Amino acid sequence: MAIEFNDAPQEERIVTSAFTRDDEETEVSLRPHTMGEYIGQEKAKENLSVFIKAAKQRGDQLDHVLLYGPPGLGKTTLAGIIAAEMGVNIRITSGPAIEKAGDLAALLTNLNKNDVLFIDEIHRLNRAVEEILYPAMEDFALDIIIGKGPAARSVRLDLPRFTLIGATTRAGRISGPLRDRFGVVSRLELYNTAELAAIVMRSANILGIAIDEGGATEIARRSRGTPRIANRLIKRVRDFAQVAGSDTIDQAAAQRALAALDIDPLGLDMIDRRMLESIIYNFAGGPVGLDTLAATIGEEAVTLEDVYEPYLMQIGFLNRTPRGRCATQKAYQHLGIPFQGQLEL
Ligand code: ADP
Repeated sequence: MAIEFNDAPQEERIVTSAFTRDDEETEVSLRPHTMGEYIGQEKAKENLSVFIKAAKQRGDQLDHVLLYGPPGLGKTTLAGIIAAEMGVNIRITSGPAIEKAGDLAALLTNLNKNDVLFIDEIHRLNRAVEEILYPAMEDFALDIIIGKGPAARSVRLDLPRFTLIGATTRAGRISGPLRDRFGVVSRLELYNTAELAAIVMRSANILGIAIDEGGATEIARRSRGTPRIANRLIKRVRDFAQVAGSDTIDQAAAQRALAALDIDPLGLDMIDRRMLESIIYNFAGGPVGLDTLAATIGEEAVTLEDVYEPYLMQIGFLNRTPRGRCATQKAYQHLGIPFQGQLEL
């Protein structure tokens, strides 16, 4: 059986980990401001706290930090916390927003001593900009060319010592020379259910939503390991609970709302299921190349890789092999499809 998938609009996907307009109003109020409020990511927090303390004792800027991990896991939030703990200002920008070398020069020259410059999606910086960044990170200097033609000369401008915090969905996407200039490289992991339940409780408290532990755990279990999704689900579940006349979101209320939103008990939505079904029905369970799979379900290959796959791999539904993606026996079971034969792994 061959299935065609062409109606998979990413913006309608409630469990997307990408930032959507729906997140705008609450994301700022829900963002933790201190390491203490930042739930989970113990390893990253522990190490960073040591580096922050040491830098402060020396009166130095913190070494440059690269944070990587799927979208919505708290990279921007953590950058803000680092700046706050250092007691410095943070300037937030992103790779695609810095179009010209001059844009970066303007940002850098406006920093104060020890400030943090946060560049989200740092893998999307263009080459010309990236080259300006090397001496800035290494020597806190900017090389500017003044004049044109034979009269052109290079002038070195000193910059204040600063900390660059770069965020990317995958460390492998940034160039070697850029990666080497980060003293601290920290990988953020998908959150477990207990951590997400604590995040749901905290957010519900801030938003004035009554929820009990059962309700929080149910939302947590279906949030694909991602705080941004957990925060979004609370709001949607609240809408359902409110209309149904329940004052407190308990497990049953959460289950009803999430089922109505087509989010299954593991947090998979229509698109995850289509992706797995496509591997199973169209490619006999795999292996199938990422680009072929992306074309079949009408999604971009990078979106599949960054947004969909990390969670499907974490729950053991998908394997990445050198020859392509394979659906696992567990995925067949979850979808209620009989598993025949051995997978080629
Ligand atoms: P990223 O930059 O990795 O895409 P963000 O830092 O924007 O992710 O985080 C998305 C939202 O998730 C934040 O607004 C915040 O409310 C919430 N969040 C992220 N990490 C945590 C955490 N560790 N504890 C509590 N809330 C978190």
